Amino acid sequence: MRIILIGPPGAGKGTQAERLTKKHGIPAISTGDLFRARVKDPNDPLGLEIKAILDSGKLVPDEITVKMLAERLEKDDCKNGFILDGFPRSVSQAEALEKMLKEKNIKIDAVIQLKVDDKQLVDRISGRFSCSKCKAGYHDTAKQPVVAGVCDSCGAKDSFTRRADDNAETVKGRLNVFHTQTAPILPFYEARGLLKAVDGMAGMDEVTTQIESALTSNNGGSQLPPPKKFG
Ligand code: AMP
Repeated sequence: MRIILIGPPGAGKGTQAERLTKKHGIPAISTGDLFRARVKDPNDPLGLEIKAILDSGKLVPDEITVKMLAERLEKDDCKNGFILDGFPRSVSQAEALEKMLKEKNIKIDAVIQLKVDDKQLVDRISGRFSCSKCKAGYHDTAKQPVVAGVCDSCGAKDSFTRRADDNAETVKGRLNVFHTQTAPILPFYEARGLLKAVDGMAGMDEVTTQIESALTSNNGGSQLPPPKKFG
């Protein structure tokens, strides 16, 4: 199964991608994670260039992004499928992906859109942090660890970290980038009968249920009631 998750930053793509990975045994590929891994080496010039872009909240140029994604899709674990989280983020990337997959003679099965309310996203994102050891996610108000400073999942102490681009100012810029550059890919996939919308403001389990039901529906269109209107 080959799935694309689309939604603004903080919509819960990472959480849902992780759940899909566990259930379907296919890897979740986050271009944001690929970039964050690349910026770890302070002597890597490309890493430094990417870091400056990530900190600004803008999009990394297609030449870099598409190449990195293509290399990742070549790995063995992608043979039986994959979940894309954060790619494509523009029509040009969607076109590049379509071309790349056509050459491999494979197709995307579903594009899941997580619909969310912008106003709540800023709070959601600016409060989030995670364990650097096991990646478990937390939030200042919505989900604190049971014991302060200790990860509930792996027991690591003082391992919590926040993303540099998860501050209110950058988040607003990232939301703007989503609406101007990423949202135009929705009609692109709608036209191909692949787009399925789920209510990303629902509880995490409910969102997972909606995604699974969208994946089992097979007539190409959204099987869900029209998403709620926000704002
Ligand atoms: P994310 O972890 O998906 O929120 O991505 C973090 C940052 O990585 C974004 O704000 C962009 O700067 C960059 N990024 C991630 N995916 C892409 C992509 N497909 N195209 C361009 N830039 C990206």
